Amino acid sequence: MKAVVFEKPGQIEVTRVADPTPGASDAILKVEACGICGTDLHLLEGDISSARYPVVPGHEFCGEVVAVGRGVANVKVGDFVAVDPNLPDGTCRFCRMGRTNLCENYSALGVTLNGAAAELVRVPSHVAFTLPSDLPRPWGTLVEPLSCAVHGFDQIGVRLADRYLIYGAGTMGLMLAQLARHAGSAGVDMVDKNPARFELAKRLAADRIADSANQFERPEGWDVVIDATGAVPAIEDGLRRVRRGGTFLVFGVASGEARVKFSPFDVYRDEIRIIGSMAVLNSFERALALVVRGVIDSEAMISHRFALDDYQKAIDTFKSGLGLKIQVAPSAPAAVESRLRAEAAAG
Ligand SMILES: [Zn+2]
Repeated sequence: MKAVVFEKPGQIEVTRVADPTPGASDAILKVEACGICGTDLHLLEGDISSARYPVVPGHEFCGEVVAVGRGVANVKVGDFVAVDPNLPDGTCRFCRMGRTNLCENYSALGVTLNGAAAELVRVPSHVAFTLPSDLPRPWGTLVEPLSCAVHGFDQIGVRLADRYLIYGAGTMGLMLAQLARHAGSAGVDMVDKNPARFELAKRLAADRIADSANQFERPEGWDVVIDATGAVPAIEDGLRRVRRGGTFLVFGVASGEARVKFSPFDVYRDEIRIIGSMAVLNSFERALALVVRGVIDSEAMISHRFALDDYQKAIDTFKSGLGLKIQVAPSAPAAVESRLRAEAAAG
């Protein structure tokens, strides 16, 4: 089969490798599409200590089951499935506490095991979840990133009529905003430095969006402030805008060296909760249900699709910050099939 292989940090090959064969509890999928995210970049740059090379990247994916091992009962040949790529060991202290996303021996498809930037991928069947046959197939790739956002909402502890302020109107910020709106928020405001993103954000979920929260009249602050940028200035600004008794969610991935300033006195006096959200925890099936129900506008979330041969172009497009979800797909034509949205193109 054809596959994208990270031979070692910094080296991408699109090459032929042996077809995967299923172990007793595995399924083999014919990959429909595979999204690209920051984790793929970190993997390519050698920033993930648990990674093994060579490795086929790709952890946001869906596909059709084409073979199963003899012990597999939950999926069958012909099923169309989305896959939770996270494979905690189930035995460490954190797994036993039910916090499997904090596993000390975390394994993941597309990071420590071969992923789905390929024609075929082998997955343990227990992480494959069946999608309705009439769902537009590329939408299945959105379940994984959405499941991270669902876990973020679990971390917040959602209340009706909370007011949200979200930094970053990229894919994750827009998913979070749509979930906030759906979750009965009293208002969703967004901050993004790129005005080209405003129109889509307003259409999908934002009551207001601006390049600075100073432009919003809200001196008492917001009940929930979410950073979906990982950028220090956004985090420092956001921490100052949490309402008394409110919550700040660290959702965006900052660099390991990043440091922010905040007032511990304010956190004390106003009883601010500052919480993190890492990957997925019992949120994959719920995210799948939300995609199926149309709670997020999946069509609007996917901006580009590239063939496997154009993986480097897909990475370059991702790095450019243009567009929203960028996919590679074995079935895509060799030439770039780009559906760059006007909102993004203007940026
Ligand atoms: Zn564990």
